[in-house]
Amino acid sequence: MTTDGITSDSADAALGDYDVIILGAGPAGMAAGIYARRAGLEAVILEKGVPGGQVLTSPNIENYPGFPDIPGMRLMELMADHAKRYIEIKEGEEVVRIRSAEKYELWTASGKYMAKAIILATGSSHRKLEVDGEELFAGRGVSYCATCDGYFFKGKSVMVIGGGNTALTDALYLHSLGTQISIVHRRDSFRADKHLQDTVKGHKIPVLWNTVVDEIIGDEQVTAVKLRNLKTGTSEKRSVDGVFIAVGEIPSSQLGTELGLEMDAGGFVVVDKSSRTNVPLVYAAGDVAGGIRQIVAAVHGGAAAALACFEDLMNPYYSRLP
Ligand code: NAP
Repeated sequence: MTTDGITSDSADAALGDYDVIILGAGPAGMAAGIYARRAGLEAVILEKGVPGGQVLTSPNIENYPGFPDIPGMRLMELMADHAKRYIEIKEGEEVVRIRSAEKYELWTASGKYMAKAIILATGSSHRKLEVDGEELFAGRGVSYCATCDGYFFKGKSVMVIGGGNTALTDALYLHSLGTQISIVHRRDSFRADKHLQDTVKGHKIPVLWNTVVDEIIGDEQVTAVKLRNLKTGTSEKRSVDGVFIAVGEIPSSQLGTELGLEMDAGGFVVVDKSSRTNVPLVYAAGDVAGGIRQIVAAVHGGAAAALACFEDLMNPYYSRLP
């Protein structure tokens, strides 16, 4: 075994040679798999854990058309069963390195895979506050997605933590649902776009400036938060039913850096409408490519990537570039 966990004696024999390898079995990766195989491409999905991605942690999904009310885990089970009719999902197979040679070489702890094309559907993770109670009450009053969970807090009292576009969009979304909402931000100004700031102000949504959350408190569900004002140093406990944490996303785009993919300031892979990146035969879809972080959008991105990949393998646009 080498230092990066790669088995040296498996260096020559490839574990598989494909038209396209899809990294990640969340909604984007599974949709890409279905579309790639239905287009006749030899394809496989390599998934570092189990299929489903972040949706597995959503207690209920109510905004995926055709499924008015379904636990995230169940929806992902159905999606995985559907995908497996077409494509193999290799679980526990984390790609740790990608080398660009005549074909792409993708390395996992088991060995090397080869492919003409790659679809990156590796997702992202929510940045955490890392305070007491955050993990304990996740899904029991602590949420990272207002569009997913907001509806459960209709008529209740909630706080949104953060000062970026997501926090303010979430606050407006929750306000429109009729929650009693306030925003907690660690500085004295928002980084969100001005029009969002103006709208939040227009709706008279209270903001606790220069304030951080020290602890999330509850029994079965969240009941309160402990706040601290950074200017005065004073702490207080406030009763709430829900805490929506919107302090940024961390894209899982490290492998894209090795491939020379263009990224935006937040580390999300830059793609065009067809999920093409700046590198020929490399595509990105779902949360790793930014945009709206919704299952419908991920599924769209994955399908677009597979269809663009099919087109490019059949009729390579990049060989005609000057
Ligand atoms: P973001 O722009 O990185 O904002 C994160 C916010 O969380 C910042 O206000 C930051 O405070 C705060 N924060 C970070 N770590 C914290 C911590 N440990 N404790 C307390 N607060 C913390 O992230 P985002 O809002 O998710 O947006 C990500 C990207 O998506 C952006 O490019 C954004 O423009 C885009 N987006 C756009 C829209 C839209 O156009 N409607 C909607 C959503 C997202 P500081 O300001 O003090 O650093």
